Amino acid sequence: MRFEDVGNQIYHMMEEVITNEHTHLVGASICIMFDNKKRKSGDRYVLGRIKSTNDELKAFAVNENGQSYDYIMYIDKEVWLRLDEEDQKKLIYHELCHCKISDSETAPYKIQGHEIETFYSEIDRNSEDPRWAERMGLIAASVHDPENNEAPNEGELDE
Ligand SMILES: [Zn+2]
Repeated sequence: MRFEDVGNQIYHMMEEVITNEHTHLVGASICIMFDNKKRKSGDRYVLGRIKSTNDELKAFAVNENGQSYDYIMYIDKEVWLRLDEEDQKKLIYHELCHCKISDSETAPYKIQGHEIETFYSEIDRNSEDPRWAERMGLIAASVHDPENNEAPNEGELDE
């Protein structure tokens, strides 16, 4: 079987992460499945992925209370079983970062891509200024598109 139920322990772990660190997802209904198929993105293995359910999926992906799931998270089972608990939480935390709640009343649960793309060597190098690319992006926007982008003041940048 390609997809497998993950069991309660992982759901408890996800609930803990949501309660402590992703509180905007408290009302979201999230299904977690083990995916037994190896998946690669470029030359890297995909440890986990998450998608929001469309109308078609919602018809099938229903929890025990008859409520449709808003998201489905897929986890590579073989990898998961070799991770310690802290790493498992890191993976769940990461996948939940992809969940974005929009203003839409009918379909608020969206997916967002990664905010940064980086190199390992940069992480230490720029540790004092981890949001440098976002900061410079705002500078670029204020230079190239001053009509639509007010130059942010320092207070707005300093989150
Ligand atoms: Zn990701």
